[in-house]
Amino acid sequence: MSNHIFNFNTSYTSLGNSFFELVNPTHVKFPNLLLFNQALAKELGLQVDQSDESNQTLTQILSGNQLAEGSVPMAQAYAGHQFGYFTMLGDGRAILLGEHIAPNQKRYDIQLKGSGPTPYSRRGDGRATLKAMLREYLISEAMHGLGIPTSRSLAVVTTGEKVFREEIQDGAVLTRVMQSHIRVGSFEYANHYLTKEELIAYTNYTLKRHYPYQLESDNQALSLLKEVLIKQVNLIVHWMRVGFIHGVMNTDNMSIAGETFDYGPCAFMNGYDPAKVFSSIDTNGRYAFANQPGIAQWNLSCLANALLPIIDEDQTKAVELAKEVLNIFPNLYTEEYTAMMGSKIGFTKDQLSDEVVELIKALLNWMKENQADYTNTFLQIQSVLIPEGIYTSSFFAEWLLKREELLNKHGSNIAQAQAIMQLQNPLVIPRNHWVEKVLDAVAFTGDLTSFNYFLNALQSPYQLTTNIEIYQAPPENGDGFYATYCGT
Ligand code: AMP
Ligand code: MG
Repeated sequence: MSNHIFNFNTSYTSLGNSFFELVNPTHVKFPNLLLFNQALAKELGLQVDQSDESNQTLTQILSGNQLAEGSVPMAQAYAGHQFGYFTMLGDGRAILLGEHIAPNQKRYDIQLKGSGPTPYSRRGDGRATLKAMLREYLISEAMHGLGIPTSRSLAVVTTGEKVFREEIQDGAVLTRVMQSHIRVGSFEYANHYLTKEELIAYTNYTLKRHYPYQLESDNQALSLLKEVLIKQVNLIVHWMRVGFIHGVMNTDNMSIAGETFDYGPCAFMNGYDPAKVFSSIDTNGRYAFANQPGIAQWNLSCLANALLPIIDEDQTKAVELAKEVLNIFPNLYTEEYTAMMGSKIGFTKDQLSDEVVELIKALLNWMKENQADYTNTFLQIQSVLIPEGIYTSSFFAEWLLKREELLNKHGSNIAQAQAIMQLQNPLVIPRNHWVEKVLDAVAFTGDLTSFNYFLNALQSPYQLTTNIEIYQAPPENGDGFYATYCGT
């Protein structure tokens, strides 16, 4: 049976072993390939087919029981600020199998998550629960469908072993695909624990991998900081567009390539509340919905801090230079956020007059007062949903009139606005009550029918297809005490 599934060409090893520990995944008892993302496999050009033999090989490899040809399994070292506090971390329950080169010549990390302990596991068991891995699969693929940069999910394999959390649960291994797993925390690690030469080498490596057009720049560290800043602004604006709350924006969970990842406690907001938090451990609301841009900026200052020694020999000058870059954030964010919100109500970037900005503010205020559903309010404006409840109020009717007036004033109209909005406002999002419902169905009965129906709808969230209405209704009593958990 051929193990040649990936086109591995792993470059991370070239950094030397201060950046990782070579470690094999731990064997699991009864692996079963529960989910396999055929579309992604095709995109990646994996050597698989529908045969039983191919499936068996995949099961063995994606459970960690066998190594694929060319694999150099490793756990990556990184540190990070968790809820503001610096700490040493590293892959405690993830193992990078290798870097796969796709037919388009792009490089992707292929990582197993929940594949057993590593030298960085500390007290953890290195394992993951089935429910948490299904959740990551579902939400990451939903994010991809929404057009948001994200880690992808290639597979979920059940292990046939139990995992001990608050209660006993089924174990599983997820295969995660990312441009890389280089994080802000990777640089904090290099700065804090390694030599200046290693920090330089790491910066150079990262630029080569993600921003090669900056290799010629006269200040590589500063260029990297700026590129990551731009990517993060773009990413956070996407999150704000769809009501996504990441929930654990620690610096070790912020990707240098600007992809969303680490889907532990994330959730989508139903009723609009800027202070909304779902994560059970985020008691101070550090990672609340409206705090996300501020936290991204804070995380970028950690990246800047880690790069200071190599930005300039003169540390006062280095701080000045870093500040100059960091100061781009507020204006750039406001500009992109405003453009995005404008497009959610049908205006183009060059139609964003003060009056339009006021119109957006008035809408958000009203939405907050009424806990209006974040997704459906824009669908109401887009005339996709039948007006009911608060959408029959005189405020909303007047707001719509005012909007039409402003569209006309800018030489636009409802039809043109419609075309813009359709690309911005999802018809379906992974609402919490549905996520829980479909995950429970798999966890309790092993039946994937409802999971796959939901996944299918989430993969094309801007398309008006049949049978999506069931996913559009907010939970009857709001989110109530819905809470999410880390590290499950
Ligand atoms: P996270 O909250 O998922 O970003 O994880 C933070 C850190 O805890 C990372 O270093 C993880 O590898 C580690 N970790 C989380 N869960 C486990 C586990 N079950 N076993 C070992 N390490 C873990
Ligand atoms: Mg993490």
